[in-house]
Amino acid sequence: MATIVEPQREIPVIADVDVCVVGGGPGGLPAALAAARRGAKTLLLEMQGCLGGMATTGHIGPILGITASRADKATVGGIPRELCERMAEIGEARSWEQSLKAHAVAFNVEGLKIVADRMVREAGVELLLHALFVDSVVENGRMTHAVVESKSGRQAVRAKVFVDATGDADLAFRAGAACTKGRPADGKAMAMGSMFRIGGVAALTADVRTAVLDKTREAVRAGELNLYSVQLGGFGSTIRDGEATVNCTRTAGDCTNVRDLTEAEQSIRELTWRTIELWRSVRGAEGLHLISTPAHVGLRESRQVVGERRITGEDVVQARKYEDAVARCGYWIDIHCPRGLVGGGDVHLCSVNCKNRDCYMITDYADQLPDELYPPDGEWFDIPYRTLVPEKVDGVLVSGRCISADHQAMAALRVMGPCMAIGEAAGTAAALAAQASIQPRQVDVQALRAALTEAGALV
Ligand SMILES: Cc1cc2nc3c(=O)[nH]c(=O)nc-3n(C[C@H](O)[C@H](O)[C@H](O)COP(=O)(O)OP(=O)(O)OC[C@H]3O[C@@H](n4cnc5c(N)ncnc54)[C@H](O)[C@@H]3O)c2cc1C
Repeated sequence: MATIVEPQREIPVIADVDVCVVGGGPGGLPAALAAARRGAKTLLLEMQGCLGGMATTGHIGPILGITASRADKATVGGIPRELCERMAEIGEARSWEQSLKAHAVAFNVEGLKIVADRMVREAGVELLLHALFVDSVVENGRMTHAVVESKSGRQAVRAKVFVDATGDADLAFRAGAACTKGRPADGKAMAMGSMFRIGGVAALTADVRTAVLDKTREAVRAGELNLYSVQLGGFGSTIRDGEATVNCTRTAGDCTNVRDLTEAEQSIRELTWRTIELWRSVRGAEGLHLISTPAHVGLRESRQVVGERRITGEDVVQARKYEDAVARCGYWIDIHCPRGLVGGGDVHLCSVNCKNRDCYMITDYADQLPDELYPPDGEWFDIPYRTLVPEKVDGVLVSGRCISADHQAMAALRVMGPCMAIGEAAGTAAALAAQASIQPRQVDVQALRAALTEAGALV
């Protein structure tokens, strides 16, 4: 490939803060709030025009992973709970009690956007939207500056501690932290997929609904629609009558590759539209309509940072606990086929029980597939602090779905409840490190756990 040499240039340092959080999704928003509430001067950088990450720009919901495995017992408190309660207060989410019973928080995307805006303002976080992080400056093994591109040009931010909440570990990767991607067998990560919102679904009679689902099943079996599940919503993020959020599309690809991202955006939009057309071709379903597709294709998995410790699938099913626990996760190993296959609607999960018996993962790499998927009922596994600390680089903590975890464990902790709890831990630790002028790996973990408990988090 041809290359060019970019000329060296001076860029303005627009901020000098204690904590800089990059990415305002489930892993980043609570991190910024936690750091600022502990008195750290905090800057939050987000490349989109709103906060919430996949929960807003990806239409993803409900918020899963708030309880112990198949139980009503909360595993998250603190900022994640507060966020949900703030949405419920303005009528944009189910109450916390209802959510615990449902093991999920159903909410409206616009409600999350407005609550997030209010909470960052109240906490005194400085927020830059439309600010794309592009590079890390590292001196003597410690990250000192983040380089940002926006309409204002190329600028730098200096911070004592950075929190990488980009989902893809962009910051840690550019700072030179070791990262893995996907499963060991072929390096493939979970498929991308987007949820979409529909209207007119409440007006369907039971017979028409059945006819729509039957016709969809036929089309999937015939290979005409690459849908991994046949549904008309019902468990999606919206709580508005007559609307549903549908979670059924799937496509393989590397979401750190711009060409794969482009292909995924377009092919999933096309698939969505063809699905809507098929539904509307059923007599009685002509009023079904597409309200919106997300601003960003849904991303499940890309880079995982190599941390001081790595969570594994074994940790999930054994419900392992750690003395440096900073968050809990009761969710299960939910691997969406990294090859993007749907197998006539039957191949939903990647495990030893997948019905696609010819897949090379079954014939050659079955030892890399999970058999057991759930922590024992009523249990959870701990997220140790060391999984947030990159092995090599100083000045950086990692939050959200890109913490140090193997392919199986990340398939559990990637849901938004645990990502938010991890975010609160990362932000609190970043503030403690910055205020004591120490590195994140030197933080007194028992003091961190005490601070989290005091703030209402469950550790
Ligand atoms: C189809 C699909 C269905 C899912 N279903 C559910 C579900 O029902 N319930 C559930 O709880 N979870 C679900 N998930 C998982 C969940 O949405 C994600 O794993 C979760 O959002 C991860 O949070 P995060 O903050 O780590 O990453 P993200 O949500 O991806 O947030 C990352 C943030 O960082 C920003 N960012 C990224 N790079 C940069 C950069 N270079 N500069 C500046 N900003 C940047 C992004 O814009 C984004 O705001 C689903 C995911 C998908 C794809």
